[in-house]
Amino acid sequence: LLLAYDPARRLARMQVGMERALVNARMIYELLDLEPQQGDAPGAVAAKFAKGEVRFDNVSFGYVAETPVLRDLSFVAAAGKVTAIVGASGAGKSTLVALLQRFYDVDNGSIKIDGQDISGVTKQSLRGSIAYVSQAPYLFEGTIRDNIRYGRPSASDTEIERAAQQAAADDFIRQQPEGYDTPVGENGVTLSGGQRQRVSIARAIVRNAPILLLDEATSALDNEAEARVQQALTQVMEGRTTIVIAHRLSTVVNADQIIVLEEGRLVEQGTHASLMADPHSVYARFHRVQGNKGLGLVDDAKPIQTPV
Ligand code: ADP
Ligand code: MG
Repeated sequence: LLLAYDPARRLARMQVGMERALVNARMIYELLDLEPQQGDAPGAVAAKFAKGEVRFDNVSFGYVAETPVLRDLSFVAAAGKVTAIVGASGAGKSTLVALLQRFYDVDNGSIKIDGQDISGVTKQSLRGSIAYVSQAPYLFEGTIRDNIRYGRPSASDTEIERAAQQAAADDFIRQQPEGYDTPVGENGVTLSGGQRQRVSIARAIVRNAPILLLDEATSALDNEAEARVQQALTQVMEGRTTIVIAHRLSTVVNADQIIVLEEGRLVEQGTHASLMADPHSVYARFHRVQGNKGLGLVDDAKPIQTPV
């Protein structure tokens, strides 16, 4: 009992709480597109993306001066196709995805969507065109329905339930005590990692954006959950420009294009077949090391730090 009043312990607990509160606030801003027009270029216009072709031209970026994280990176993610990014932990995969959402701005080069430089469009309109499923999906305090609706506040109940079906989440949601109206979060039910991920995939589906960014996660999921998540992801990728940080062999093998990053540089680019054709490729080496267990490109799952 005395320990509970130990000021140091209380302070430590408070800090944890505050940190979490900050993260929550930021994520809600991002998801609801409430962020003020902070950091928009003067005269920034609303993005008008059609098909969602993503083009990186000679992009360089570092979080701190003199320490480049992405170096002279150029590639095109074709509209409606799947581009898989592979590379060891720290190679710059999550940074690439952060730049595309303008959590940071490039130091050199440009990122264009359908020919429009993203530095000249409002962040709100840019992020409105992008659905992002992170490695460690976060559920807010609220009902399951609310959590899916964060993807697009105007979504109807029917659209929410259809999205949940596509995300292979409808079944387990209906088994909850109050179905879609079951509260989750600190005062609600606890969902498993796979269930949380399927809710966040449903959120991405209702968002109905032309561009989909996926940071795959497998570590937290058992086999059955993983198969269902995979199935759900395949659904949501359909017809969207998808950039996937891939850990799963099946995603990589089936991707229209694979980009291999090493220390922020694009070192190889091609399809599974073309990259495997060279037994000395970095990509082929990944496969030899990891075999059928997957690429094992273990990601530290460290969330991207975005400026609050
Ligand atoms: P990956 O996703 O491929 O594992 P990241 O893009 O997360 O790689 O990180 C690339 C490099 O940038 C790493 O060296 C990492 O430590 C560094 N980094 C990532 N985020 C930050 C940050 N917010 N501030 C400073 N350095 C960072
Ligand atoms: Mg990462």
